[in-house]
Amino acid sequence: MKSLACTLFLTVAHVLAQEKTEAQDLCEQWNALYEKMQYGSVDRKTSGPLLRSLAKEIRDKIAVPQDSVFYFPIENHGLPDVGGTNGSGFISRQYNFLHGNRHRGHPAHDIFIHDADQDNLDDNTKQPAYVVAMTDGIVIGMKTNWTSGDTLRGGNYLMVYNPNLQRYYYYAHNHTILVKLGDVVRAGTRIATVGRTGRNASEKRSPTHLHLMVLQITDEKGKPYNYYDELVKSKKVNSPS
Ligand SMILES: [Zn+2]
Repeated sequence: MKSLACTLFLTVAHVLAQEKTEAQDLCEQWNALYEKMQYGSVDRKTSGPLLRSLAKEIRDKIAVPQDSVFYFPIENHGLPDVGGTNGSGFISRQYNFLHGNRHRGHPAHDIFIHDADQDNLDDNTKQPAYVVAMTDGIVIGMKTNWTSGDTLRGGNYLMVYNPNLQRYYYYAHNHTILVKLGDVVRAGTRIATVGRTGRNASEKRSPTHLHLMVLQITDEKGKPYNYYDELVKSKKVNSPS
């Protein structure tokens, strides 16, 4: 009897482990393909449909809570830290998600931290500035080993898929990444620290900032979505004291 219970437990555990692995495996596949796309080493006619079908599979395998609250993406920061005037930093010019690293315009918002000495720390607190997830989602892409000399613009980026809104959230130039592929992240929780990674973002002339692009993937090409109104109504997150 004891051994039957034990066998049953192991079987259930095995199935659970397998399910987890399968979902994570899909995220790893998405990540590998996206990284190739970023470096231009894959034909985008192939990668585009494949990324979309992988995202569909991921959506079927991983449940994400449906929540419509938006959080401001950096702790202790708010609207005055967003680049441009009233969201004018967003310039969507012929952007095509599938062009990877070689894109034009600036279909995103930059959110700046006070880091005059460019040491990746907030000058006021001498602590990292934490990037928090703007919405719930699944971690499907990341780079954690960017080094200077690497031509990738996004540096240590993080890609979070929100299957309910059908959007990709691309957080770029991070210093460190605090989540793993396949993780379900809740809105307002820490996912990275703000940094200076990426070809241009690492240059002295670039003030330390988070580059956050949102892609609406109901559009075939992954159309950049101007989420400024959502930043305006977003909930501010304060660091725990
Ligand atoms: Zn930017």
